[in-house]
Amino acid sequence: MVVDYEKLGFKAGIEIHQQLDTGKLFCNCPGVLRSDEPLFEVSRKLHLVSGESGEIDVAAKYQHLEDKTFVYQGNDTTCLVELDEEPPHKINQEALYIALQIGELLNCKIIPMAQVMRKTVINGSNTSGFQRTVMFARDGFVETSRGKVGISFILLEEDSARPVSREKDRVVYKLDRLGLPLVEVVTAPDIKDAAHAKETALKIGEILRSCKVRRGIGTIRQDINISVKGSNRVEIKGFQDPKIMELCVDNEILRQKGLLDLSKEIFKVKIGDIKEVSLAVELEWMKKAIKGGAKFVGCSVKGYEGLFGRELFSGYRLGTDLARYAKTRGFGGVIHSDEDLVGKYKFSSEDIARIKKEFGASSGDAFLMVLGDKVNAEKMFKEVLFPRMLKLNEPNSSEVRNCLPDATTEFLRPMPGSARMYPETDLEILHIHRDLINKAKKNLPELRSVVEARLKKEGLSEDMITILFKRDKFEDFKAISSVVGHPKVVGKILLLLTGEIAAKTDKDITEVEEILDVEVLTFVMEELVKGKIDEGDLKMILEKIVNGVSALEAVKVEKVDSSEIEGRIAVLIKDKPGLRPNAYMGIIMKEFDGKVQAGEVMKIIGKILG
Ligand SMILES: [Zn+2]
Repeated sequence: MVVDYEKLGFKAGIEIHQQLDTGKLFCNCPGVLRSDEPLFEVSRKLHLVSGESGEIDVAAKYQHLEDKTFVYQGNDTTCLVELDEEPPHKINQEALYIALQIGELLNCKIIPMAQVMRKTVINGSNTSGFQRTVMFARDGFVETSRGKVGISFILLEEDSARPVSREKDRVVYKLDRLGLPLVEVVTAPDIKDAAHAKETALKIGEILRSCKVRRGIGTIRQDINISVKGSNRVEIKGFQDPKIMELCVDNEILRQKGLLDLSKEIFKVKIGDIKEVSLAVELEWMKKAIKGGAKFVGCSVKGYEGLFGRELFSGYRLGTDLARYAKTRGFGGVIHSDEDLVGKYKFSSEDIARIKKEFGASSGDAFLMVLGDKVNAEKMFKEVLFPRMLKLNEPNSSEVRNCLPDATTEFLRPMPGSARMYPETDLEILHIHRDLINKAKKNLPELRSVVEARLKKEGLSEDMITILFKRDKFEDFKAISSVVGHPKVVGKILLLLTGEIAAKTDKDITEVEEILDVEVLTFVMEELVKGKIDEGDLKMILEKIVNGVSALEAVKVEKVDSSEIEGRIAVLIKDKPGLRPNAYMGIIMKEFDGKVQAGEVMKIIGKILG
């Protein structure tokens, strides 16, 4: 579908969260994610507190309704700070340094005196019920093909605990991720459309990846805030992949537009009493649920006929939208009167008549129901669905939504308000020293696009450059080639020879790479630069090192003078005439035991044989 962004009054800004590659932000624990069994578990319940403004945050209130127990798993790389049993330590200086570089690269002004804040989070992902965050830079920009996109501000903050399992009233988290430093880049609402959102996200992502940040799935997260004229701002989370962003943005603005259009009609909605109805079901999942104690619970909605089936955009109905709210309370979905009740749910006409009678739905009325626990269903209707159904004359509500794999969105929680923040009293005001800012400025990393262009100029192929970054070998490459030059040879060693040697020696590639570290490779390359070894000897030398020979020994390649080889070949051909060139070469190679090069031998044989 073609979306006219300008006509819709589209407004969007993005937020990018990137993990930094250092230890934790407010304690001395290393930043390692553990896959082994935890050493201990701690259970907690979280309580609501009011924020700086004295109000309890709306999002916090919403999540507390779920009343859950949180279990935290820790080990020897977590400490009492993660458990909120010890005050935070001084901010990690390395993380701050990297953050400052990011601020500089995004053309921001650094805030020299900053207050660390606590941001209320009570989904349990922080043991304390808040996340520490500090705004250290503001008013920057990033260049895009469609002009500058403003960077409103950048935050340095703690990552949350890592969810392991979620049950209805119990959520288990690992503490290993809690407290890892994150940088959050927030752009101004300068983004023009979905494609521009993607471009901007990729541009900022490139800048972030030029710095010392973590790589791989889950280390970068993008959110986007969008609205159309007359609608409320919605934040969409959960883009692991910027590719899905474009389609999801389109779908979300069409949803907002659909609700906006609907709100201009006049509805007099009246919801009937919540009732239970027993039906003769045919579907297995229904039978199973009823056996487990589930009931059909629902009500009539006067004046709502046809509305559940109304499409907000192609394939996405108001009923779909409402069902996604019900899902947040653990219901699989909702059954409503605009669905194909016979085809989809195998209800008989008697069943349908019974539903209408029990709920008190006459012509012009709609009904909806869920199959589940009766008490929870009543609660869900009253707290979640009814308020939404009664607000049809208003545009969409301001909320946080999640991007689904099909590029539509689902409700996650209400939009947090300003009541969410209050100062972190356990920490002093953060003074960012001029010296640290200057040092960060002076040592800015090169952008990847700049590096790529230079590598191309140095003769590396595009494939090689891609693999260099993909296999995270760029730092090694830079370390070695900055000392010895010869970027093409260094690239070949790192990307090709190590793999070939691993295959030949039956060793793991990581094992080979551990032996052939930057120091060893720099030494071997220096010998090459000095002319003590030939490029053709590299593989043989490195193979020796991998097999346990010291680097000092391995580079002692006995050189045989080419006239000596030539003489020997001439004698051989005389002694054994008529053999194929390859056969002569095999004999010579064996005789000189790696001290001669195959290419050179072949050339001489060719010359003598004519
Ligand atoms: Zn710690």
